[in-house]
Amino acid sequence: MRALEEYNRRRHFELTREPKPKKLSSKSGRLFVVQKHRASHLHYDLRFEVDGVLKSWAVPKGPSLDSSVKRLAMATEDHPLEYANFEGIIPEGEYGGGTVMVWDYGTYEEEDREPGESIRRGEFKFKLNGNKLKGSWVLVRIRARNWLLIKHRDRSATGKDVTNSKPFSVLTRRTLAEIAKDEGGNVAKASTGDPERVPRRPRSKRKAAKAS
Ligand code: MN
Repeated sequence: MRALEEYNRRRHFELTREPKPKKLSSKSGRLFVVQKHRASHLHYDLRFEVDGVLKSWAVPKGPSLDSSVKRLAMATEDHPLEYANFEGIIPEGEYGGGTVMVWDYGTYEEEDREPGESIRRGEFKFKLNGNKLKGSWVLVRIRARNWLLIKHRDRSATGKDVTNSKPFSVLTRRTLAEIAKDEGGNVAKASTGDPERVPRRPRSKRKAAKAS
């Protein structure tokens, strides 16, 4: 699994509970996940299943549903598919040490050519069918590892701040601070990634599609 060499190299699997690569594809073959990650800085990791791995970008400010907003997205190393279900703690001192939340989860469709090819060319248009994120988007490479994430103008575009209004885990409805507390992480640090005023929790727990 050549594509995951960097992922493996950066991690000590005897210390972290992050998954070791195994699985080759999900049922749909088009899974996407957004993981909210309070490491040295807060960011949102946007990942797409492409050819058996999760192609990944770190979005410091998170996705915006406003089609006039461009969000910086830094390309990061491919992750194994089973990473899509990872929510919990990465030990401090390890790569990415901090708290990880599965913030959104679902499937995507490519809007253009084959996703691997689009990514290589630096312009990836896709449609999301997530719990929080829907509709058409594009990732455009500006230079090296720097890309922009932009929402297309469509029915799901809105000026509402989705990262603030929907701060809970799509899997467990927990905040970052609650995940840290449950799993023995740094609660004070994790809570800096939660909104100052936590909104009402969604009532029904919708099951996310599982990678299988
Ligand atoms: Mn991250």
